[in-house]
Formats: sequence, structure tokens, C-alpha cells
Amino acid sequence: MSANIAESFGSMVFNDLTMREKLPKDIYKALKKTIHDRKPLDPNIAGIIANAMKDWAVERGATHYTHWFQPMTGITAEKHDGFITPIDDGCAIMEFSGKELIKGEPDASSFPSGGLRATFEARGYTAWDPTSYAFIKDNTLCIPTVFCSYGGEALDKKTPLLRSMDALNTQALRILRLLGDNETRNVVASVGAEQEYFIIDKSYFDKRIDLIYCGRTLIGAPSPKGQELDDHYFGSINPKVKAFMQELDEELWKLGIFAKTEHNEVAPGQYELAPYFENANSATDHNQLTMETMKRIAEKHGLVCLLHEKPFAGVNGSGKHNNWSLLTDTGENLFKPGREPQNNLRFLVFLCAVIKAVDEYQDLLRISVATAGNDLRLGGNEAPTAIMSMFLGDELTEILDCIQSGSEYIGRNRDEIGVGAEALPTIKKDTTDRNRTSSFAFTGNKFEFRMLGSCLSISGPNIVLNTIAADALKEFADRLEKREDGIGIETAVRTLLADTIQKHRRIIFNGNAYSGEWVEEAERRGLSNYRTTPDCLSEFLSEKNVGLFERHNVFTSAELHSRCDILHDNYCKVIRIEARTLISMIRRYILPAVNSYTDELCRAMERISGCIRGVHGGARLALVSKLMDGYEKLYEYGEKLDSLVNGAENICDMSQRAAFYRDNLIKVMEDARSVSDELEQITAKSHWPFPTYSDMLNKF
Ligand code: ADP
Ligand code: MG
Repeated sequence: MSANIAESFGSMVFNDLTMREKLPKDIYKALKKTIHDRKPLDPNIAGIIANAMKDWAVERGATHYTHWFQPMTGITAEKHDGFITPIDDGCAIMEFSGKELIKGEPDASSFPSGGLRATFEARGYTAWDPTSYAFIKDNTLCIPTVFCSYGGEALDKKTPLLRSMDALNTQALRILRLLGDNETRNVVASVGAEQEYFIIDKSYFDKRIDLIYCGRTLIGAPSPKGQELDDHYFGSINPKVKAFMQELDEELWKLGIFAKTEHNEVAPGQYELAPYFENANSATDHNQLTMETMKRIAEKHGLVCLLHEKPFAGVNGSGKHNNWSLLTDTGENLFKPGREPQNNLRFLVFLCAVIKAVDEYQDLLRISVATAGNDLRLGGNEAPTAIMSMFLGDELTEILDCIQSGSEYIGRNRDEIGVGAEALPTIKKDTTDRNRTSSFAFTGNKFEFRMLGSCLSISGPNIVLNTIAADALKEFADRLEKREDGIGIETAVRTLLADTIQKHRRIIFNGNAYSGEWVEEAERRGLSNYRTTPDCLSEFLSEKNVGLFERHNVFTSAELHSRCDILHDNYCKVIRIEARTLISMIRRYILPAVNSYTDELCRAMERISGCIRGVHGGARLALVSKLMDGYEKLYEYGEKLDSLVNGAENICDMSQRAAFYRDNLIKVMEDARSVSDELEQITAKSHWPFPTYSDMLNKF
């Protein structure tokens, strides 16, 4: 990083360094204490902080401020207010009060609440989350806030995330104390979210209503060259894309987002950005900002950034890898195995807690990534299947097997890998090999949850991860605290571990999770396999799941019901928009194009047979009949889709409506697509109304 960049890093963030510089010492200390203890901010100091923030922001060109929050739409929301305040004599000053910093009251009636707040009760509150830094974006001071209803129910994705982090901290500390650690004061979930995305030229995007309305292509014949040569992966980056990445990095760095690596992904036109990890709350805010910034900067370069999970059929979809770990305020990573994992009790306890959690709450993890778009990806080319399983690698699995059977683990000789050429150094093998197919992989000192779709807010999956881990740790702590007199902690822990491994061993799978055999094997093991969003949502409100969230004060039952409704509703809306878009594409673009090409062929035939006697144009006739055949079929699919969309409107029950969409619409859309894709391949390019896959994926 050059000196210049190091200087501009975080320059648009009211971060710790800035606070220390701009706030009186006692105020700074009081604020730090608030942040550390997660206590409400003293209103008396809020005014001083607000004023310092405003001065700092105005110096950097800000004219407005906004409470920046994450409603259940999955994207962020903001309502801008000017700092400018009139005073006597027609003059104005720039003002920002403590009250305005701490609390906002946006008219919240049009955000989804899943029935928590009737629309006439428009009152919603936003409240500053001082654990997340304020920042400047587009000349606006953005204050990260939580968003709740008049009755205090969470209407956003931040509140429950903070609650889940508290729950995890509480339970992790109990375990640490039991293991004799009296120093650690705080355990926090750390998250690094690798973000995949596609880049295409904006001129193509503008010509495709499916990309504009749905974010993905609903039709499109495969390009003659897809990803089969694997020549895009880690290849050299196109200069236009490179320029975009450079500006993106600079913008993200100013916002204090540590974008670290960028490389080409497997599919043509696909890329990845990996940030440096941070606490789950900041990582969530930053991932939202990253996605927003990607879209904005791409447009500046005449490009469009596609964040949909499956923008193109036949090539890989885009995911988001949620790297998750637990760190203490004393600088320890609780998932670091150390040199002798078999003797590292703390590591083993936390590892086994996660094994138990993932096995017991397979359904919730699947639900946390469930969207109509992600259903198209899970189980596809590169994505993990919809089955939850955990990869641990051979060494850890052997250690766990020994603990379970009570036998001694004979340490492995960490083999060195000879590269085969004398001059090259030998490489020390990692404890685990990489397994790219697992939905939940242990990767050395963290877990990588790979089922997330690329446009998903990472809040949901981390709420689930934190809460289920907290719950497993709670059960462990309860049991260890109640151990019989005279039984030492080490013995009690080893018994606990052995029991846990025996009970939850089925979730561990180190093989190829993309293979057909795994699907059968998983079924034999009794693991769940929810292929679609409506399938898994039916489990959301089970007694087990509601109990879990209530036990740890992460969601009330009412909040869970509202979220379940929103997920169903969203699923239906997405598919309805797609169906309507496809109908429009068929009727207003494709059929007319096929018709005009057929017409052209027929005229040519007429002309030719008029000139040359005896020539009937057999090839043209064959082509025309194929085109006419496709035309008829596609027309019928358009009619069928239309009547299905209208029929669905009469189903009032949300889960029934979602099931109707899943069972009827999706299939007809796929059938219509295959007819359209055949037509595309026999229609002259000059007549086809949309840019093709080869245009979009290979040309800039
Ligand atoms: P890969 O592509 O092989 O998965 P990368 O190096 O691209 O690996 O990404 C690893 C991601 O994991 C990065 O975003 C990194 O910040 C994150 N990460 C590393 N250590 C931790 C940790 N302790 N907690 C959470 N995330 C982490
Ligand atoms: Mg990864």
C-alpha cells in the first residue's frame, strides 16, 4: 500500500482515530466505554459527539446526514436531512444535535414488516449503533442505526445480529471460565465475506429487460465457448475491468473497507473480491456498502455489476463465502488448532460445539440462505448442494474418531510436499486440504459457510451461526457446571466431547459433495436436503427453532413469524416479476422477431422460385417450418404463464402461494426458455432482439 493510500484509508470514516482526535478526552473515554460495554449512550455527551461529527463531515464536503439502516428488504435505506438550519435575519448555520444523532423517526410504513406493524402505524424508530462507525458517502454523513417499531420489535437486520453477538459472547465466556480462563472479557464473531460478481458491458445490459427487472437472464442460448477451458479462472484481468477494480478499491479503502484480493473467477465475466475480516457487525455493514459501491463504480466505467446468484444459466452462479471465527479481546482465535489439536481442549470444545450446532440446525442454516435466486444456484455447477455437511479434513476427523473411541491419537507426521524440482522449496502441508465442494468447511482457523448467494445480506446467516453456536456452548456449559463432585474438568470435557462426536458425527463429510453418491449417502445418514425455499421455510417456525431464538433473546416469536412471512412474500414476488418479464419478452420481442425472420425467408423463397423454375428451397422450407413450430409453442407458453400468474393471485395463504409458484410457474418458465433458446440458435443474429450470451460474457 503506497503512503498515499495508507493516508486515505478510512478517510471518510469517523473511526477511532478520528474520534480520539476530534473529541474531548473525557467524552472520548465515555463513548469508548459505551461501545465496549454495549450500554446506551448518555444523552448529555451525545450533543458534543454530534457536533464534532458534523464539523468533521462538513470539512469533507458533507451537507446532509442520514440514519443508515438495513430494513428487511435486504438492502440499505437512508433518508437525507440537511445540516442547514435557519437562524434570524435569513441566515443559516450548519447544525446537528445529539438528539438527531441518537434517534430518528423515519416514516416506515413502506418497509416490509411481515405484519408486525400495520401500515397505518407508520412510526418506526432508528437508533444509533455506536459500535459501527459513521461514514461519509455522496456528501452525506451516514450514521449506522438499528430500526425498530413503536413496540420495540426489530424491523431490520442489524438488531438481531447484535443480539446474537451478545448471546454468543455470554455463552463463550462461560466456557472459557470453566476452562480456567479468567482474563478474556469479550468474545466476538469475526467475519470475512468473499464476494463474487459478474461484470458485463452496460450497452448489453440496457437491451435486456430480464437483467433490468430481474437481475438475471430468463432466456439465452449457451455461448459456443463457456467455462470449459477454465481459462478465465485467475487469468489476467481485462483492462476495462481492471480500471473498475482499481477505482472500486480506492473508494472502499476511503470507507475503511479493507478490500484485499481480486481475481477472475471460473465463469467468463465473473470476479471475486475478498475483504479482510472484522467483527460480524462491521463486516455486515461493510458488505452492504461494498455491494452498493460495486454497482455505482461499475456504471461510471460503462459496465454493470450483476450481483444475482445465477445471472446466466450453464455457467457458475455467484456466491458469497462467509468466513466465520471467534476471536477474544486478548487476541486469541478460538478455532486455532495449534500444533497439537488433540490436546487443545479449548479448540476441541469450540469445534465440537459447532459440529453439534450445524447438525442440529441444518434447517436454519439452509433457511438463512433461502431465496428464489439462490435456489437456482445451490446444487449447480460450482455451488454446494442444498445439503448441509461439514468438511474437517482427515487429520481433525481422525482426532475426533480417537476421542470418540477413547483411543490415543498418534500424531501425524505433517508431510512435506516435494514440488519435484530441486531448486524449489518444499511446502509444509496444511492440516486440512482444501475442499471446495463442502457447504461448511473448516479452513485452518475458521469456518467457511459457502451456501450464501452473492446478493444476500450476510446478516441472516451470521445471526443463525452465532445463535446456534451460542446454544451448543450453553448446553456444554450447563452440563460441565453440573458435573459430579470429584470429576475434574478435563475428564468431564473429554466425556462431553466423545458423546457429542458420537451423536453428531453424521454431519462430517470430507468427500466430494457435488457427487450423486453423496446425495444418496446424505439421505442414508438422515441429513436434510431442502431443494427449494418453500421446502425449508416450512420448518422455520418449528418449536425447536422458535425456542432457540427465544432462549437467547435474538428473536421473539412475533418477530420470527414476520420474517417467515416476508421470506414467502419475497419468493412469490420475485417469481411473479420473472414470469411477467418473460411473458413480455415472448410477446413483445421474441415472437415478433421470429415472425419477421420467417417472413424474410418466405419472401426470399418466393423471389427465388419466381426466378429459377423448379427450385423449391428445401433448406429454407425446413428452417421455416422449425421457426413456425417454435413460434406456436412459445406463444402457447406465453398464454399458459399468463393464466398461471393470474391464478396465483387468488391464493391467499402465503406458503400455499409460494408452493404454487414453485410447482407450476418455474417449470413452465423453464420450458418456455428451452423453446426460446432453440429459436435463438436458428434465427439470424440481425433479427434477434437481445444481446446473446456470447456478447455479454465475452465482449467488453
Ligand atoms: P479462499 O478464496 O481460499 O477461500 P481467501 O484468502 O480469498 O481464501 O479468503 C479468505 C477470507 O477469510 C478472507 O476474506 C479473510 O479475511 C477471511 N478470514 C481470514 N481469517 C478469518 C477469521 N479469523 N475470521 C473470519 N474471517 C477470516
Ligand atoms: Mg472462499
